[in-house]
Amino acid sequence: MRITHIELGVSRVPLKLPFRTALRSVDQVEDVIVRLHTDSGHVGYGAAPPTAAITGDTLDSIVAAIRQHIAPHLIGGEVAELDQLTALIREAVPGNPSAKAAMDIAVHDLWGQWQGAPLYRLFGGSHPRLRTDLTISVGEVSAMVEQSLHAVGRGYRALKLKLGKDPALDIRRVLAIHEAVGDRATLRLDANQGWSAEQAVQVLQAVEHAGVQPELLEQPVPANDIDGLCHVTARVQTPVVADESVFDANDAIEVIRRRAADIINIKLMKAGGISGALRIADLAAAHGVGCMIGCMLEGAVGVTAAAHVAAARPEVITKIDLDGPALCRYNPVDGGAIFREAEIDLTDGPGLGIRDIRDVERLDY
Ligand code: MG
Repeated sequence: MRITHIELGVSRVPLKLPFRTALRSVDQVEDVIVRLHTDSGHVGYGAAPPTAAITGDTLDSIVAAIRQHIAPHLIGGEVAELDQLTALIREAVPGNPSAKAAMDIAVHDLWGQWQGAPLYRLFGGSHPRLRTDLTISVGEVSAMVEQSLHAVGRGYRALKLKLGKDPALDIRRVLAIHEAVGDRATLRLDANQGWSAEQAVQVLQAVEHAGVQPELLEQPVPANDIDGLCHVTARVQTPVVADESVFDANDAIEVIRRRAADIINIKLMKAGGISGALRIADLAAAHGVGCMIGCMLEGAVGVTAAAHVAAARPEVITKIDLDGPALCRYNPVDGGAIFREAEIDLTDGPGLGIRDIRDVERLDY
């Protein structure tokens, strides 16, 4: 099975509610869609959302990186030679992690189809069901409480609260949501780099002293402030998660070596796809560090790929934050993982199990 040509497109799906974090506000999910065609007629699917505020990847940069730098290396490539293809993608150009992720996912999808089995099984996994949390956007306390109660009513047992920038208000948000949901859901706090190290310690100590034990605290300080991350991790009870501070395995080594966080949040769009994500998971496992798997604001193609990674490494990836499709009004993907609120089920379809994607606006290539 050889790669013959590449098709690019854009998928746009409206969100149920606007998505707000300390960094941005968005009302639709946008993905660059990759279709890798082969001489056998098999099609491999990949996707990447432009998340410039986090990864630096824009829609135009993803398309340009694929067209000009990555695709030329893959045309004619033999799908059976997975490691060689993923290395070509990784080394094609510096940076551009989301563009690389889209191509790496599509190559894995083809490889799984060539093997005739779902990816998570090929990587050693056996349990096709995951449970995700749901993200509650940062906003008015009353609106966050209302959305949290609604989420609990829809079966979510973990809520990820987006916080940021105003520590006193953030404390009120957490306490009010805890008061409302009680023990029906665990609370995962995500400051998205919004605090200083001192503020993070103050917020967490206030929350902990009030009798609330969050399940975790994600990225309290700016991504490059590893000293700050160490400071917080050493001083709060709540496990600290490195998200924006860890893109790839090299970042993970630094965070593990310095004990800067208790948990690493793996995202395919930071790590350059499935191969980079598995590398971080295996590295963390070897050091006894746990992992969470997350997604960007993205649709079902990339999140299906992330779900396969999670199902392939359940011993180390114990926290699932794959709610992109749950935040969308509909899922345009035919096949792939089945998303029903908190439950994500992988199917036995080969590769990612994707058959088609509706309403993709084609980009000429
Ligand atoms: Mg995060």
